[in-house]
Amino acid sequence: MWSYQHPGFSVHQLPALNDNYIYLIDVDNSDVMVAVDPADAVPVKKACRELGKPLTHILNTHHHWDHTDGNKPLKSSFHCQVAGAAVDAARIPEIDIEVSEESQLQLGGIDVRILFVPGHTRGHIAFLLKDALFCGDTLFGGGCGRLFEGDAEQMWNSLSRLAELDDATHVYCAHEYTLANLHFAQSVDPENSALASRISLDTQRRIRKEPTIPSSIGLERSTNPFLRPADSQFCASYAALHNIPADALSVFTHLRVSKDQI
Ligand SMILES: [Zn+2]
Repeated sequence: MWSYQHPGFSVHQLPALNDNYIYLIDVDNSDVMVAVDPADAVPVKKACRELGKPLTHILNTHHHWDHTDGNKPLKSSFHCQVAGAAVDAARIPEIDIEVSEESQLQLGGIDVRILFVPGHTRGHIAFLLKDALFCGDTLFGGGCGRLFEGDAEQMWNSLSRLAELDDATHVYCAHEYTLANLHFAQSVDPENSALASRISLDTQRRIRKEPTIPSSIGLERSTNPFLRPADSQFCASYAALHNIPADALSVFTHLRVSKDQI
């Protein structure tokens, strides 16, 4: 378990399954303990025991089993409340609180902003608590989620909204895919020196068995190939190389298709 301090709360990062991360948001001076995307109940129960605080809430970014399988067993152990997207309520197990962008959700006095970010699934949402973004399978370290239910335009719009957040925003995504993503990134963006530095830093972290996550919006904007189409120079040179229109959506779409073929 790794822990990070934010103003008013801590985030505990729990590895789960092969390469998932479950996050616990532990709100200071309150009884609120929140699990984000509990793939598995076992590590959540163990961490709550160690931290001496029972679980009060679950936040689900989307319906996939490796984000929601813990809902039922955790609810029966802790009687916690499950929050997920209203538009996908039928596919979120045990949902109690249906949220949308307009929802005024507060947990232990901390405002939770809901961002509707479809593309990976049609009802995918992200949660922003102050400077901490929980973005599930939309934005990854050096990558983005596959388009299982949405199209490239939806995903590009969703990623562009996340990219507008403050550079210092911590990116808590749900999988440790960063190194594989960065190797693809280097193949399409070989002159990017920020990317080269990130690869060397994150390689060292993985050798030490440390997570590469959280990253930050600023780092993703400068090194993640799926955000780089917003950079007009990158966009123009990539489009010229592949003989495609030099607009961000065309470049994003080409990148997503190329990555899927690996
Ligand atoms: Zn997923």
